[in-house]
Amino acid sequence: MKADINEFIADLENRTPGEKEFHQAVEEVIGSVWDFYQQNARYRQANILERMVEPERVIMFRVPWVDDRGEVRVNRGYRVEFNSALGPYKGGIRFHASVTLSILKFLGFEQTFKNSLTSLPMGGGKGGSDFSPKGKSDGEIMRFCQSFMSELYRHIGANTDVPAGDIGVGGREIGYLFGQYKRLKNEFTGVLTGKGLSWGGSLVRPEATGFGAVYFVQHMLHRVDKDIQGLTVGVSGFGNVAWGAINKINELGGKVVTISGPDGYIYDPEGINGEKVDYLLELRASNNDVVEPYALEFGARFIPGKRPWEVPVNIAMPCATENELNLEDAKELVKNNCTLVAEVSNMGCTAEAAEYLTEKMVYAPGKAVNAGGVAVSGLEMSQNSMRISWPREEVDARLKVIMESIHETCVNYGLTKGAKNKIDYVKGANVGGFVKVADAMLAQ
Ligand code: GLU
Repeated sequence: MKADINEFIADLENRTPGEKEFHQAVEEVIGSVWDFYQQNARYRQANILERMVEPERVIMFRVPWVDDRGEVRVNRGYRVEFNSALGPYKGGIRFHASVTLSILKFLGFEQTFKNSLTSLPMGGGKGGSDFSPKGKSDGEIMRFCQSFMSELYRHIGANTDVPAGDIGVGGREIGYLFGQYKRLKNEFTGVLTGKGLSWGGSLVRPEATGFGAVYFVQHMLHRVDKDIQGLTVGVSGFGNVAWGAINKINELGGKVVTISGPDGYIYDPEGINGEKVDYLLELRASNNDVVEPYALEFGARFIPGKRPWEVPVNIAMPCATENELNLEDAKELVKNNCTLVAEVSNMGCTAEAAEYLTEKMVYAPGKAVNAGGVAVSGLEMSQNSMRISWPREEVDARLKVIMESIHETCVNYGLTKGAKNKIDYVKGANVGGFVKVADAMLAQ
């Protein structure tokens, strides 16, 4: 057993050289659970933390596929089966050029705590490939998905490991992956979530991450006697998650003024609403990964090569990818009187930014804020097992209850002494997520 945090981290870095995103995710969790861990001899004696940072299983495989010119291309596929203490491994698949083992280990590790926070019986996992859908045709994406599943299918199953979407994997990709799984196994089960409605999918799943995030933000605001109505919100990203969040913010009377892509950001002071929100789906479906066309279509401003955090807003919701908001951005937000940052992307803020924001305003981490996505995936699994489908109102009501309970868990474990009634949401989410996984590991 390691005597202190530094020794623990040094040992981890020695055993997993170069995995910087994974180290960042582990450090954030260890930093907030360490005291609690030290005070609980039963966890310490069983070396629970040392066990938690080692994935139960990592699968890496070759994914050969044929492009439209008839040339054979090769990518690398992964599935990180991180922790099955609470249920079958559960977590998305990411297709993006930046995907490495380190990124998938960080995501699988985070997923374990996130899934625990939902209180549904799901372990943690993550998978993906360094395949970039950008600029690919539908046919190329289909052939890639089929090849990816030709290896993955032997490692997953409705009671073993249930993947879903993540960056670069939406309804279309889930369809191709599911079709291939069915062909190979000759069985129709809930092996993937995020399926189409007519073939086992759940209502509200496409918008669940964004809706859940806004429900969570409302709880954060209500705690300090505020409401999202009338507030301006800066959003980054323009994919499925941003789309869901923007829809719910508009419904509740807030105003979203930014979105962003790898090419820059859009500033639309009139608010991104009505047909402009639906346009995001068109942009995403084009496989180009740019937001500039929005400016041309609706006469808004496009600021190339920059991130949206320089725009004055009341609330910021990063919805794109890890480390998309750094210390400089955090200082800019504070300077412009932003009072709440809810991270919707996984580890959207750098460690320094997260620390600064926790000190200066109300900040909540992705594993709590974005848990609505995987929560509705869990509800999709339940519906598949029962072979029924719940109406929209029922799924949405369950999602609301889950987000409220995650917020309560954060408050219970994150209430700081000293600073009046302030919640450390990072600590709350990490300790709250940790306890259930640790107890289950001990019991098993
Ligand atoms: N990729 C999403 C996440 O980061 C959803 C995972 C799922 O639905 O299994 O939580």
